[in-house]
Amino acid sequence: MDISHAPTQGRTTDGRARLYDSIVDTVGDTPCIKINTLAPEHVELYVKAEFFNPAASVKDRLALSIIEEAEQSGELTPGQTVVEATSGNTGIGLAMVCAAKGYPLVVTMADSFSIERRRLMRFLGAKVVLTPRTAKGFGMYQKAKELADANGWFLARQFETSVNAKIHENTTAREIMADFKDKGLDYWVTGYGTGGTVSGVGRVLRKQWPDTKIILSEPANAQLVGSGEAQERTAEGAPAVGHSAFEPHPIQGWTPDFIPLVLQESIDRNYFDELIPVPGPVGIEWAGKLARSEGIFTGISGGSTFAVAMQVADRAEAGSTILCMLPDTGERYLSSPMFEGIAEDMTEEETALSLSTPGYHMPDA
Ligand code: PMP
Repeated sequence: MDISHAPTQGRTTDGRARLYDSIVDTVGDTPCIKINTLAPEHVELYVKAEFFNPAASVKDRLALSIIEEAEQSGELTPGQTVVEATSGNTGIGLAMVCAAKGYPLVVTMADSFSIERRRLMRFLGAKVVLTPRTAKGFGMYQKAKELADANGWFLARQFETSVNAKIHENTTAREIMADFKDKGLDYWVTGYGTGGTVSGVGRVLRKQWPDTKIILSEPANAQLVGSGEAQERTAEGAPAVGHSAFEPHPIQGWTPDFIPLVLQESIDRNYFDELIPVPGPVGIEWAGKLARSEGIFTGISGGSTFAVAMQVADRAEAGSTILCMLPDTGERYLSSPMFEGIAEDMTEEETALSLSTPGYHMPDA
């Protein structure tokens, strides 16, 4: 078949030159994108846009890893129900993978997380069991465990499983090294939820690119790592109690009320060179600036990571290259404080614009 078709003019695309057997094969290979307006002139700042994953967050990688590794080990059998405690993105990623592969999914989630996350998971076919916000992340986890034990379901255990950091070692880290192999990378900036991203990428960068500085961030009002206080754990590595440095914070997906086992590897092996706290409201501000000045639409954790990357950029040596992780899409935060100041009705300026020409005014304008 002749597919030659000479472009007429303007921008053209040529397809990916492959066909995909399943949505799950589109996970990963997210682009690193240059920041053109906000970055200080003496550095090059890039963001790794994890919202290019099929369910729009970094957690698609983990979800796929958990299911495929359990399929291979025989821990997960055809048609068996999967259950997990998740603040949303892991649940949405799992819902996507479970739908594509035919596993029922039950998610436990504190009722404090955004409404659209619950509805998204339900739309993708999952059952969402809410837990009281007063019981925090610990309560969500205990509920998932109870349900798994009572029903013989497969518990995904994102906070403890070794396949979490492994997928970031095998995908995220390899992608970063491939994309920056010519330019080099002076700083890599990330936050943590489970710690999968930092522990997996940290493993590889420390070995292969030891000169790359790793910057870790956490909420200013929940500095669990910064407190230096150790986490008490059960024999399986799950938290035995909540961490005393925890306070509720607006950076959804970051810092649960305990130090996850997956993150502990980064602490024990010094995978990060610096720990920089960031207040949630500052992260929200930067998410807005990224959207308005760069057209890059990420969530609160992305804005928070970017706020830290800007601090790093301001004091970095001239010519430095910096990469900042953006874990998910801003669309996941429509009912969160990120959209608080965004009007539903026309603003005064918009009404004035409407009235500036004769036709099609709203009735009450
Ligand atoms: N940001 C958001 C919005 C997330 O959902 C998560 C995952 N919980 C993270 C950041 C952190 O990723 P990780 O679990 O790999 O540390």
